[in-house]
Amino acid sequence: MSFEALGLHASLVKAVATAGYTKPTPVQEQAIPAGIAGRDLLVSSQTGSGKTAAFMLPALHKLANMEPSPQAARTPAQQAQSARARGERVRFTPAQPKMLVLTPTRELALQVTTATEQYTSDMRRIRAVSILGGMPYPKQMQLLSKNPEILVATPGRLIDHMESGKINFSQLEILVLDEADRMLDMGFIEDIEKIVEATPDTRQTMLFSATLDGVVGNMARRITKDPMVIQI
Ligand code: AMP
Repeated sequence: MSFEALGLHASLVKAVATAGYTKPTPVQEQAIPAGIAGRDLLVSSQTGSGKTAAFMLPALHKLANMEPSPQAARTPAQQAQSARARGERVRFTPAQPKMLVLTPTRELALQVTTATEQYTSDMRRIRAVSILGGMPYPKQMQLLSKNPEILVATPGRLIDHMESGKINFSQLEILVLDEADRMLDMGFIEDIEKIVEATPDTRQTMLFSATLDGVVGNMARRITKDPMVIQI
């Protein structure tokens, strides 16, 4: 099986070849076609299995084929006006990402962002930024003001920006929870629930976790629709 045979966009096939990947890993073989087809995914897999590319490649394929949404095409002034009409405080035009990846740690978020930059080196329109606890707010505001298509974030800091109107998830198409079991172990369940609530029901959801049992399994089933379950 090749990356091309999985149906990926040519520039992604080229990017993975440049990264030195010769063939998809087992989790990628299953997740990429299902992800491209728009299925929700529940994946039990470990670090090192190639899980980052398993969610990022199908997501990038979809984003590359997507028209810029009409909302995103409106001017910042029009967006600010309608936000005010909805009663939101606006000092800043909110970022309207199409994809959100939640990770338990800053280190993992940075790894995901770096991998994304590698996969999108040929896709100038698509940018990913990390929104992390501990990073200075002015720097994050500067990143958000560019309205990136993809946010990679730890839950606590993301909530801060969401609640202060810096991020609006109405255009979100794809939600990924990476290492979901670790996020729950770290006490992020309420933050995750709040973030999921703020995203459209029509989103595609992909959840990756070492285990799909117990609390994480319950949450996984609540936030996905007819998911394909992949156990590696
Ligand atoms: P991950 O499980 O996402 O943390 O990935 C582990 C490592 O495997 C990373 O360094 C990836 O760049 C690399 N990797 C991911 N997919 C492949 C592949 N199909 N072939 C070779 N290496 C890969």
